Amino acid sequence: QNFKELGVPDELIQGITELGIQKPTEIQQRAIPFLMEDGSDFIAQAQTGTGKTAAFGLPLLCKVDPKRSEIQGLIIAPTRELAKQIGKQLFRFTKYAEHKIFVEVLCGGDNIDRQAKALQRPTHIVVATPGRLLDLIKRKALTLVSVKHLVLDEADEMLSMGFKKELTTIFGLTRQRGSTWLFSATIPDAIHALVKDCMGPGPQVMKV
Ligand code: AMP
Repeated sequence: QNFKELGVPDELIQGITELGIQKPTEIQQRAIPFLMEDGSDFIAQAQTGTGKTAAFGLPLLCKVDPKRSEIQGLIIAPTRELAKQIGKQLFRFTKYAEHKIFVEVLCGGDNIDRQAKALQRPTHIVVATPGRLLDLIKRKALTLVSVKHLVLDEADEMLSMGFKKELTTIFGLTRQRGSTWLFSATIPDAIHALVKDCMGPGPQVMKV
């Protein structure tokens, strides 16, 4: 199946085509239709390089309502490099979108005052590392009350880096969300425990 058959709208297909993304990878084939249609709790065991960013990014972009100027999607990543890479990809995917979707990347290492200022503009999707996100929340630069979709990327890495407590705090701050999508290269017991903390019973599970 091609991206159109998977339910991806033409304006996003135009954006990804320019990045050389034409034929869906396995994770994209399997995850996109589910996340577009149902898209409640979801776990994918997938490595970097499998095309997982587009697998969650395209459905997330479709679920955001650009007319509501509040944060609806939150993507948490372990490192600033990954967060920036995700932000850049989402920005490029939406190059031809009729209604602009605003994505803000919040990660350590960058000037926190500038990030706080950037959040005064309408923001639909935040891509963040856990520590910096919570610092900015403490400063009241943003709240997560409007978040509907939470994505955890490289969840096993986040646990290895000691972000368990931060993640638990983020789950609490986004209690009203409708869906949680977790991506992880490995699914050790610690991930099962994390899943219990952040999802209801019976999430859709995919391994690629
Ligand atoms: P990811 O696994 O999301 O980190 O993606 C790894 C790289 O593969 C990125 O540079 C993507 O732009 C690229 N990519 C993602 N999906 C596809 C696809 N269907 N065909 C070709 N390249 C892709």
